[in-house]
Amino acid sequence: MHQLRIIVILLQLLAVSFCAAASPPELSQAAQHIDSNPAYALELLLPLIEQAQENEDSKTEAIALRYAGMAYHRMGKPADAALFLQDGLSAARLNGHRAEEGDLLNTFGIYCFDIGMYEQSQRYFLQALEIRKQSDDTLGIARTTNNLGRIQDKIGNFDRAIEYYQESLALKNTTAEINGRILTLSNMGLAYKGKGDLEQAIRLYQEALLLSEQTTYPEGEGYAQQNLGEAYRLLGRLDLSLSHCTKALDAYRSVRYQPRLSQAAFETALTYQALKDYPNAEQLYNEALELATSQNQQELIRDIMKQLALLSEEEGDLSSALSYFKRFVALQDALSSVYNREKILILDAEHRSRYQQAEITLLRRDAELNQSKLQQQHFIVFALSALSLTALGSIYYFRRQVKLRRAKEAELLIVTQALQEANSRLNHLAATDSLTKLSNRRQFDQSYPEDCARAKENGLDIALILADIDFFKQYNDQLGHLAGDRCLRQVASLLRRCLKETPYWAARYGGEEFAIVLYNAGVAEAAKVAECFRRSLENLTLAHPLSPNGQITISLGIASALSCGSYQPDVLFKAADDALYLAKSGGRNQVQQ
Ligand code: GH3
Ligand code: MG
Ligand code: MG
Repeated sequence: MHQLRIIVILLQLLAVSFCAAASPPELSQAAQHIDSNPAYALELLLPLIEQAQENEDSKTEAIALRYAGMAYHRMGKPADAALFLQDGLSAARLNGHRAEEGDLLNTFGIYCFDIGMYEQSQRYFLQALEIRKQSDDTLGIARTTNNLGRIQDKIGNFDRAIEYYQESLALKNTTAEINGRILTLSNMGLAYKGKGDLEQAIRLYQEALLLSEQTTYPEGEGYAQQNLGEAYRLLGRLDLSLSHCTKALDAYRSVRYQPRLSQAAFETALTYQALKDYPNAEQLYNEALELATSQNQQELIRDIMKQLALLSEEEGDLSSALSYFKRFVALQDALSSVYNREKILILDAEHRSRYQQAEITLLRRDAELNQSKLQQQHFIVFALSALSLTALGSIYYFRRQVKLRRAKEAELLIVTQALQEANSRLNHLAATDSLTKLSNRRQFDQSYPEDCARAKENGLDIALILADIDFFKQYNDQLGHLAGDRCLRQVASLLRRCLKETPYWAARYGGEEFAIVLYNAGVAEAAKVAECFRRSLENLTLAHPLSPNGQITISLGIASALSCGSYQPDVLFKAADDALYLAKSGGRNQVQQ
């Protein structure tokens, strides 16, 4: 009996510690809604992110930020998605959450891919792959490998793309995941289409479609249908093409999957155009254009422009055709500078060589063997072929030099990239105050004068708030330095929250002093922000035994370039400092200007 009780207690302890380590339930709840109801997922995620930031739970923060990025992407808001993912990436990196970093890099790569930034996208995928390989995450590796194939496909390197897809499929076959296989089969079909083998492409799409019938995965079904629609259009079987395209549209619409709906609408419009059904074609091009514009899908917009130009021409409207065509050319130029095909190839070669060292060793042994055989050949053979061998030799030498140079360039690229990353991490650390995580004095000294100059140049006002905690020396003396530090963190976190919805930024200027820079704002706006900060601190009622009103309060001084008549950083600073002095001498816990 006694033993049983001990076991029960142990089990209870285990359960308690497990609950403490697990992530909040809202997180998994949000994850379930990202696809079906992204707006609701965001409602759950945004407060969760704030809470995690406050509790300094960087892991939950990073995951929640990634989910939020995914939800925004799903809703067709790539700019918001990028912002949240970037934040998530910093949170994961700064706190060493490797697995989460890998997930974020992979997601980021997908979004860069979706807006045509293939070079950047490949960088993210390669970094993600590296991390996932380190942790033996088979499914993760398979997914990222598939994504790397899509980039090779985009730059026309179809054979290499197929290699990636085969590798990915082989890995996915060892797992229970069906959805990923559906997508990779379709992708492989696209690569065969690129090679001109439409029959093989159709076989693969159909295999994907068949697989998608075994599960509920409208995104995968839509993708296969859309690809079939395209293939049959290319073969001139327009009725069949239209029926597949319509099914693709239905599938994507059923799950409101914006990023692909635009593509499917475009594909369907192409078929209508081929069928000479111009009104339907035009309507779908416009739908695709609207979706693509809101999601910044530049490549698709370019393709739509081209088709609208052709359509206008077919309908005899030459002036519209010309204006569409001009936009097409402008986009084409802009896009061709977004990524560099050579760089993508070099990076890929470098990646391949890193994982194929074993093969290289074998090749080298073969080469050495051949070499020794060659040496045993008769002298006359050498003499007879001396001329041609010299030519071959120089070709070989030249090729080798080119190869070496390429390898050097690739190495340099990787090193530069690693350096850049290390630098940006260092910059971040160097610019942040470690106690409050606000910008530090160094950052303030650099950015504040820049903001002043920018405001002057653009003819805008700029305001500065200086804030200083009241009687903080007594607080420290009475409660100790640790309590003082804790209080500083709480005040800083409150300040961050006050500025959250605004474009303004704050720095820890000195011990218990904060500076807030309000670009494009005057004293009225600054007074509102300052008062909000003062009042929320008052409402927080942090106990301060030696303060006259028994709690922590803050005094604030404000000034702006227009109110003090100068854009000089020093003059504006002095004006705000004078106002702070007024607030202190006027009884503290107040805002003065
Ligand atoms: P006033 O209302 O006039 O501003 O009075 P005060 O006591 O706040 O002002 P004073 O400038 O005399 O004291 C500031 C104190 O802030 C001194 C020091 O004890 C404390 N302080 C400065 N930096 C830190 C820090 O990083 N951590 C902690 N715990 N205390 C700090
Ligand atoms: Mg002070
Ligand atoms: Mg003070």
